Amino acid sequence: MENIELKTENNQAKPAQNNKRTQLKGLTLEELKNYFGKTGKPRFRGEQLFNWMYNHLAVDYDEMSNIPKVLRNELRDITEIVTLSYFDSVVSPENGTKKYIFETNDKHKIESVLIPETDRTTLCVSTQVGCPLDCKFCATGLMGYKKNLSAGEIFDQYLLAAKDYGADKITNLVYMGMGEPMLNFNATLKSLQIFAQELTTGISLKKITVSTAGIPQKIRELADSHLKVKLAFSLHSCFEDIRSKLMPINDKYSLKDNINAVKYYARRTATRITFEYVMLKDINDREEDIDALSRLCGEIPCKINIIPFNSLKHMQPTGFSAELETSPMDRIDEFAQRLRDKNITVMLRNTQGEDIAAACGQLAIKY
Ligand code: SAH
Repeated sequence: MENIELKTENNQAKPAQNNKRTQLKGLTLEELKNYFGKTGKPRFRGEQLFNWMYNHLAVDYDEMSNIPKVLRNELRDITEIVTLSYFDSVVSPENGTKKYIFETNDKHKIESVLIPETDRTTLCVSTQVGCPLDCKFCATGLMGYKKNLSAGEIFDQYLLAAKDYGADKITNLVYMGMGEPMLNFNATLKSLQIFAQELTTGISLKKITVSTAGIPQKIRELADSHLKVKLAFSLHSCFEDIRSKLMPINDKYSLKDNINAVKYYARRTATRITFEYVMLKDINDREEDIDALSRLCGEIPCKINIIPFNSLKHMQPTGFSAELETSPMDRIDEFAQRLRDKNITVMLRNTQGEDIAAACGQLAIKY
C-alpha cells in the first residue's frame, strides 16, 4: 500500500526533449495556447488544435484545413497526436449495454461501457490500466495495476464511443471503469477540464460523476478545482474494520478521514454525494448496517446507490474474495426499502451488462 501515491501522474504531456515529440492530445486549451504562444505563433492556433482533436477526433494534421500548410508540416515534425484505437466491442442482447475494448498506443487494452437506460445513456470510462487498490469484490483489482492513462486516453474513450454510438445519444459520463481516478489525479482533472471548455461539444460537467474509493486529499483538491462534477464515494461499509477487509486502501485512508473530505466536497460544490454500496451477504447487509447508513446519511446530502454484487467466480479468486456472495434479492429490496422508510434516497442499480461481464467495476480481462 505504501507506494500507491508514487504510481501516480507519470505520463503527462511534456515539451519535446531529446528528440521526443510533444504529445498534444491531452493538453488543455490553456496548455495548447501556451504551447503556440511560447514558440512565437498565434495563441489561437491552440484553439484550432483543440477543436480538431477534441471535437473531430483528428489525428492527421492534413485534416486541419484552417491551419497553414507550413505550420502543419512543422507540427508533424515536432509533435504528435496519439490516440486510443478501437479494438473490439460486444453488445448485451439482454439490455443493449455495449462494452468497448480500446487499445492504447503501447498496446494495453482498456474498457469502456455504454449503458443505455430509459432516461439516459451513460458511458463508464477507465482511468488506469488495471488498478492498484485490490478491493476484494472487484474484478479489476484481481488483475493488478499496469499504468495510468493520460488525459487524452481518458477523453478519447468518450470520443471513440461517441463516434460509434452517436455523440447526441450519450448523456452522462461516469469515471467508474478500471482504475482509481484519484490515483491518476492530474490526468483525470485535465480530462475534466477538456470537457469543461465551452469549445468542447461533449458532455457538461453536471452530467459527469467521478467515483473514488477514497483519497481524502484528492477529494478536497477536486472540490477546490471548481469543476463541480458529481462525486461518488465507494462506501461499501460504514465500519472501519469491515471496510478495511473489503478495501485495503481503508487502512491507509480511513473512512473517518474520507467522510470528512466527502462532507467538504458536498459543502464546497453544493452537490449531493452518491454513496456506492455493493451488497454482500452477511458482510454489509445486516441490521446494524442499515442503522449506520442512515446515521451517515443524516450528516451529508447524499443518495445511496445499492448495487447487487457481481460474482467474481469466473475469475477463480482466492482468499477473502472467494468467500463473497451477493445478498439475496429479497434482502436487497428490504434493505433499500428500510432506508427509504427513513427518507433516504436509494437507487437500486441493476447489474447491467453482467451477461457480457461489463458492469462498471467488473471490467473483464478477456484480452
Ligand atoms: N476506483 C473507483 C472507480 C472504479 S470501481 C472506485 O472505487 O469508486 C467503481 C464501482 O464499481 C465501485 O464503487 C463498485 O460499486 C463497483 N464494483 C466493483 N466491483 C463490483 C462487483 N464485483 N459487483 C458490483 N459492483 C462492483
